[in-house]
Amino acid sequence: MRAVLAHGPGDFRRLEVEEPTGGLVVAVEAAGVCAADRMLWTGRHPWGELAWPFIPGHELLGRVVATDGRLPVGARVTAEVKLPCEACPACERGQQHLCPRGLHLGSGIPGAFAERVSLPASARVHAVPDALSTRQAVLAEPMACALHAVRRAGVRPGDHVAVAGLGGLGALAVQAARAEGAAAVTAVVRGPHKARLARELGYDDATTDPADGAYDVVLDVSGSVDAVAVLLRAVRPGGRAGVYGVYDRPLPLDLNLLAEFGELTVAGGHLVAPGCFPEAIALLSGVDGDVVVTGEHPLERLVDALASTDRPRLKEIVLP
Ligand SMILES: [Zn+2]
Ligand SMILES: [Zn+2]
Repeated sequence: MRAVLAHGPGDFRRLEVEEPTGGLVVAVEAAGVCAADRMLWTGRHPWGELAWPFIPGHELLGRVVATDGRLPVGARVTAEVKLPCEACPACERGQQHLCPRGLHLGSGIPGAFAERVSLPASARVHAVPDALSTRQAVLAEPMACALHAVRRAGVRPGDHVAVAGLGGLGALAVQAARAEGAAAVTAVVRGPHKARLARELGYDDATTDPADGAYDVVLDVSGSVDAVAVLLRAVRPGGRAGVYGVYDRPLPLDLNLLAEFGELTVAGGHLVAPGCFPEAIALLSGVDGDVVVTGEHPLERLVDALASTDRPRLKEIVLP
């Protein structure tokens, strides 16, 4: 079958590879390109040495073509990124997403940038309704991440929420925040183009300069240290902040902002979404996939999609 094999940063090759066998074999309908895939491509990531080569791609949408009994042949399916060991202290605590021994779809096991993928028994799979369009259904994994991010940030009913980072996650965080009961969701953006986009995506408001102390909850999904600094001033005393991304440098931080002046609760979020998939999939019918998905590429063009720096770009997908 055709697949893209990542040999190292800047070296992804379209090849013929062996057909996958065993477990649940899924024919890929579409696979989302994640910021994490771009980091594999550029080599700028925090994950240390990786076991190159591998087939990347963890935002899987497909149909079962051979089954181990978990779902019938023909079922539409997605899968969680983490394949936990189920035996370590993290797994025993119920925090399988933090399992240090687990594997990841798209690095530890072959991923979705291929015609077919095999999901072993340790993979957590979820059925996806046929009624969703490809452009909606392919957003299951990032929507689960958006929901996890919003929950980690501690959004409660009636909250005014500010979100920084209008990429693939920021495009979905507004729906996730509303689902958790947010009364208003503001996008913190860099300029007028993104402000228009934020409104198209369903944000109540967009600002380049959020007022100090104006929000109950702030959430960064931009991966920008500067954005986090802005958000920590925009949250009210006693408020909550979620930090959900991969950051390329430390943030010099006056801890008085968190302590003496703010009594803030700051929660980090790991980019793997535990227990969020069923609700995330249910939210997708309310998402305009044609706004969120900004590009579709055949496998042959994945490298171009990864290398492209065109803006704006929300979610690009690969259709094998
Ligand atoms: Zn992802
Ligand atoms: Zn474990």
